[in-house]
Amino acid sequence: MSASQTSEVPADVPTLLVKIFGKDRPGITAGLFDTLAAYSLDVVDIEQVVTRGRIVLCALVTAPAAGGEGGLRATVHSWAESLGLQAEIISGRGDNRPRGMGRSHVTVLGNPLTSEKTAAIASAITATGGNIDRIFRLAKYPVTAVEFAVSGADTGLLRTTLATQSHEIGVDIAVVASGLQRRAQRLVVMDVDSTLIQDEVIELFAAHAGCEAEVAEVTERAMRGELDFEQSLHARVALLAGLDASVVEKVRAEVRLTPGARTLIRTLKRLGYQVGVVSGGFTQVTDDLKGRLGLDFASANTLEIVDGQLTGRVVGEVVDRAGKARLLRRFAAEAGVPLAQTVAIGDGANDLDMLNTAGLGVAFNAKPVVRRAAHAAVNVPFLDTVLYLLGITREEVESADAEAGDGDEDDGYGDDRYADAEDRAGQ
Ligand SMILES: [Mg+2]
Repeated sequence: MSASQTSEVPADVPTLLVKIFGKDRPGITAGLFDTLAAYSLDVVDIEQVVTRGRIVLCALVTAPAAGGEGGLRATVHSWAESLGLQAEIISGRGDNRPRGMGRSHVTVLGNPLTSEKTAAIASAITATGGNIDRIFRLAKYPVTAVEFAVSGADTGLLRTTLATQSHEIGVDIAVVASGLQRRAQRLVVMDVDSTLIQDEVIELFAAHAGCEAEVAEVTERAMRGELDFEQSLHARVALLAGLDASVVEKVRAEVRLTPGARTLIRTLKRLGYQVGVVSGGFTQVTDDLKGRLGLDFASANTLEIVDGQLTGRVVGEVVDRAGKARLLRRFAAEAGVPLAQTVAIGDGANDLDMLNTAGLGVAFNAKPVVRRAAHAAVNVPFLDTVLYLLGITREEVESADAEAGDGDEDDGYGDDRYADAEDRAGQ
């Protein structure tokens, strides 16, 4: 082959689209190409899908030399008939029409995903000028996750349109731009309270100090905007003054991980991601989580303990909204990962800067203001669904688990999968 030759098919060369469909069985693909081989054709494109035992196999091939097409059609049809399959052969020219500019992945999480919802999503995509090139299922557990590969629409427009409609439709929709960037994500940083865990750690401490109502009142005032995060942190921690340091152990034991948290972290670690947490809560809990879950990074506020008692003060730099974004940058720098290749997950207004700083910001069961500002939102209570936004399928998660075998982790949580199932059952 000379240097000027490429395998690309010129637009004016006659080509045939050969489509086979029917009941799947071993050997169909080999059989079709064996049949075509007699005509010395070049394969331009192949796509095959099997759904519940039915195969759809499409082959785009160069047309045979003059006079050969009639014979090819007869041969393919009689081969298909012998196997009880249907065949369709369509003449045309060149390769597939180039797909439109602007490629996006639209991940839909449905619980359940109904045909009405699917119709609404598809028409919303069409309304943006987008074309659905491919659809496939990422997961059936714990929710149905389906990915649409869309071309021809601006990713930003697609995201805004679908984000607005996802609430009405009753599904979670995440839109991310296609491309290598998506496959290059290497650092995931999570909020802790109501994200990695189901609890708010300050409330667990307050319960031991008997000051839940007072703490809740300060939280309310902060939500009304009367106090900023730092003021509310100091006010709430002050209520814990005099508490015996032994409650730290009790609180650690009370923390309930969010369903799917272990699956998310275990899978990300296997894929070579670095995983960290940042929290407006306390290092007394986050350091413990870091050790138990094998996290790479953890940062939070530290409760001051003197003579075996909480002093009601925090020590060191306060982790607030700006602090969380700063820590994401620091972790990314330490991990040697550009910010565009980071993912942040959080639920509160405190997480907004971090979510916007990351390449992909995921609002997890968040308040509407956070949902609107994030790149993607998940509103089902399973943290492992974030994997689907990264294009990782449930099958990949499960085969990685099977490969690793049982009991590979000794983190004191017992069997991970059962633990996650129990967490789910407890929802
Ligand atoms: Mg939170």
